[in-house]
Amino acid sequence: MGRIAYVNGQFVRHGDAVVHIEDRGYQLADAVYEVWALFDGKLADAEGHFARLERSLSELSIPTPMSRAALTIVLKEAVRQNRVRDGLVYLQVGRGVAPRGHAFPDQPTAPSVVITVSAVDRPALEAKAAKGVTVITTPENRWGRCDIKTVGLLPNALAKQAAKEKGAGEAWFVDELGFVTEGASSNAWIIDADGVLRTRDTNANILRGVTRRTLLDVLAGEGMKVEERPFTPQEALEAQEAFITGAGILVLPVVAVDGKPVGNGEVGPVAMKLRRLYIERARATAV
Ligand code: PLP
Repeated sequence: MGRIAYVNGQFVRHGDAVVHIEDRGYQLADAVYEVWALFDGKLADAEGHFARLERSLSELSIPTPMSRAALTIVLKEAVRQNRVRDGLVYLQVGRGVAPRGHAFPDQPTAPSVVITVSAVDRPALEAKAAKGVTVITTPENRWGRCDIKTVGLLPNALAKQAAKEKGAGEAWFVDELGFVTEGASSNAWIIDADGVLRTRDTNANILRGVTRRTLLDVLAGEGMKVEERPFTPQEALEAQEAFITGAGILVLPVVAVDGKPVGNGEVGPVAMKLRRLYIERARATAV
């Protein structure tokens, strides 16, 4: 059976799934999205992603397309039809279709809703985590509302491409004061020279990562010392360990920044322990 997508009320074959040429998500990036990790066919961190989706929509005055309960049913049906156990669910909600124009349409439009489901190769991801990834740094050049998870991802895509061309797995944006904001598709963390876990605070212009939030709860439960405080790339090099978090990668060790080793350049024990603890929590609470 091939992949199935959900588009505006219908489940269709992935290859047949289409959106209108005047969909504002397509023309103006006037749309938001969410990504859930799937464990055994269940949505990880479901509540956090729903809450962020609702906030993103509200910040852009896009109506919620359906209740959380209804959306859960549709997401789960998409997962079921795709027969995916370990994977990712992608949901995009846009303002809808209207003749092209920058201002919102005069007549209210029905929000566009698209869902796709993809399988991930967990053993391959675990092997990647065991090796760690390298990151590059790049000047922050995104708009001022990175807290809204919009599909306007061109700076992120360009940063990720630059990373790929250098053989790196992620790009860290660095602000004008020299501090790392976050990755192109992840939040950035270090375990600093004093052994303190550090990640950027959410008053900064970053996405409020759901994986980041859950990991903070896990760390509190473990009694580990955490500071939501910015760090520089140099501090990352002097750190004991570094890692990134996101629904797609979970917790992924970082072994080098701009070609220089983080700590001793090896995957650190704490990052791997946190990966295990996060996965345990996400599995146990998936719905
Ligand atoms: N930061 C950015 C820019 C992202 O795109 C993502 C995920 O896509 C994250 C952080 C991590 O967020 P989450 O943990 O909610 O997946």
